[in-house]
Amino acid sequence: MFEKPSSVIILLGWNLEHFLASCTTLAIPTGVCHTVGVGGHFSGGGYDNLIWKYGLSVDKIVDAKITGIDGKIMDRKIMGEDLFWAIRGGSGASFGVILSWKIKLVLVPEIVTIFVVDKTTKQGLIDLIYKYQNVATKLPDDLFLRIELSEPGVYKKTIKVTLIGFFLGKIKGLLKVLEKHLPELGLTPHYCTEMKWIEYVLFWNAIPTGTSIDILLERVWYGRSYTKSKSNFIKNTILKQGLERIIEKLVKSGDITMHWNPYGGCMDEISEHAVPLPQRSGY
Ligand SMILES: Cc1cc2nc3c(=O)[nH]c(=O)nc-3n(C[C@H](O)[C@H](O)[C@H](O)COP(=O)(O)OP(=O)(O)OC[C@H]3O[C@@H](n4cnc5c(N)ncnc54)[C@H](O)[C@@H]3O)c2cc1C
Repeated sequence: MFEKPSSVIILLGWNLEHFLASCTTLAIPTGVCHTVGVGGHFSGGGYDNLIWKYGLSVDKIVDAKITGIDGKIMDRKIMGEDLFWAIRGGSGASFGVILSWKIKLVLVPEIVTIFVVDKTTKQGLIDLIYKYQNVATKLPDDLFLRIELSEPGVYKKTIKVTLIGFFLGKIKGLLKVLEKHLPELGLTPHYCTEMKWIEYVLFWNAIPTGTSIDILLERVWYGRSYTKSKSNFIKNTILKQGLERIIEKLVKSGDITMHWNPYGGCMDEISEHAVPLPQRSGY
């Protein structure tokens, strides 16, 4: 379906999304938030909403330039496969200073679709989250479906669950997939927006629709808020009783948001030894 993608060299400090704006079907899996720096992001692994289709950011790296304490600049051939393996997820700073990455671009359709749907407990929220857990890792690799459980806010004594979908295709195709896998969501075109991939980058960073993509050059995070974050990987389904307790805790503490990102798609096919990040199938 897609043509063979080409490679591009990234010098640290480039804004690659802006560079790609002119190529409507070329993309790069580099972080949900566009302000992340590729020095730390790539050497730490990197995930984004294209993870299902194309894996982690580091899965697309084909070469790199690194320098150590002797000042010698090494590419993949000179550094050897062991060091090249290590810097793709094992933290760059432990091994030297990375000067550039060469990555393989990926192909996306001209039109992608996003949707955002809010639900509350009154609308069978526990059942929906429970079902979500069981279908989210088994969806086709064109659909990345995450959820956010957030603080009470206006909902009082309950929480808001937001389902956010990113689909590599048009609304019609998305509705078909969800009708088959998660009809409980009751998705309609009303909640869906079609756009180019680069516009989706703006959307995800809370930049108002219609804003010029030149804004990406400013490298400002518009959805900025100051938070403390912690991540965890899980393999087991959380039972309904557990979900009730999570909701209870969120309501009680008031100011916590949980983001759930399912792994699946091509992540299931990639060996846990491919790079220093073993979390692949079943998370
Ligand atoms: C708002 C926000 C959103 C994020 N969203 C995502 C996301 O969607 N997906 C995701 O995977 N991660 C995400 N992250 C995490 C992000 O990828 C890491 O914080 C990453 O380390 C940022 O890269 P940096 O270059 O700014 O690293 P820094 O914070 O500057 O450094 C992190 C580590 O990398 C080392 N390092 C940095 N540059 C180099 C280099 N050139 N050579 C060698 N070592 C180097 C540093 O020494 C340090 O040890 C997010 C972080 C934030 C703050």
